[in-house]
Amino acid sequence: KPRVLSGIQPTADSFHLGNYLGALRQWVAMQDTHEAFYCVVDLHAITVEQDPKKLRQRTRVSAAQLLALGIDPARSTLFVQSHVPEHAQLGWVMQCLTGFGEASRMTQFKDKSARQAADHVGVGLFTYPILQAADILVYRANEVPVGEDQRQHLELTRDLAQRFNSRYGKTFVLPEPHIVKDTAKIYDLQDPTSKMSKSVPAGVVELLDEPKVSAKKIRSAVTDLEREIRYDTEKKPGISNLLVIYSALTGRALSALEADYEGKGYGDLKKDLADVVTDFVTPVREKVRGYLDDPAELDKILLGGAQRAREVASRTLEAAYKRIGFLPPA
Ligand code: ATP
Ligand code: MG
Repeated sequence: KPRVLSGIQPTADSFHLGNYLGALRQWVAMQDTHEAFYCVVDLHAITVEQDPKKLRQRTRVSAAQLLALGIDPARSTLFVQSHVPEHAQLGWVMQCLTGFGEASRMTQFKDKSARQAADHVGVGLFTYPILQAADILVYRANEVPVGEDQRQHLELTRDLAQRFNSRYGKTFVLPEPHIVKDTAKIYDLQDPTSKMSKSVPAGVVELLDEPKVSAKKIRSAVTDLEREIRYDTEKKPGISNLLVIYSALTGRALSALEADYEGKGYGDLKKDLADVVTDFVTPVREKVRGYLDDPAELDKILLGGAQRAREVASRTLEAAYKRIGFLPPA
């Protein structure tokens, strides 16, 4: 079986519909066809300031959501990034292979650093795509299910794998991004030109929000001054985003939705979408509560996952260290 690796940051109290439709839904599906490694990437979370108590809680809530969405710890290796020190160790190696100019071209750094005062921007935010490359390469993953915003980081990962391989001999697999076009970028409901993000909590539909709260966010989604319900990302980014979410959660084609809503108003679409979202999140919220009721069991699942992950990661790291010319420790 080919291998899949992906991660998600514990940077909020809840995941959102963009995370689910852009990435997590594919994580669940790929468990059947791949040997799966999925992690809560807490090392990445501290690239921006985190409160320790909240970070601990959010790491558990993240794992609980992954389980609730259908990640099965019997079929997938589910773990917390900081439990597997090989990520950071290979991360250093990858940093030494990365050009400063190359790292400077990462657009996500430009976006995220622009949102903070200059003296609050840490070097970790700058180098995090390189650690992400190590996350992937240390498992020799073949595929990485992510949203569109991660495409550039996947290209960097492939470049670094290639560079290491040609300098030291074939060690790493060049991973392919697995990006599902239709839902690769879900937009913020308040600003339908920028991506829905955990770290910009404006028009974000959170999985763990009360359905009433989500309904309100959907009702107040920014649209346009026309009346027609039509998929047109250029002229109608707000309505198009709502249609994409609706279509993805119901399996109904965009063209069928356009026909369903002919002659109806934006209010009708928003009300129905709120119901669709409620139906989707209600069982997820219940399951999350169940997992959080038993944190000891949750931690046990994560530690078991970390053990399995380390077996694979330590072998890759050892091979890489040897080829670099590091003296074996024993
Ligand atoms: P942060 O703002 O802290 O970066 P985030 O919402 O971008 O949070 P991540 O943990 O960085 O979430 O990303 C987890 C996964 O979700 C990644 O694969 C990413 O590409 C995907 N993703 C994030 N936002 C969206 C979105 N709006 N649409 C589609 N996929 C998304
Ligand atoms: Mg992100």
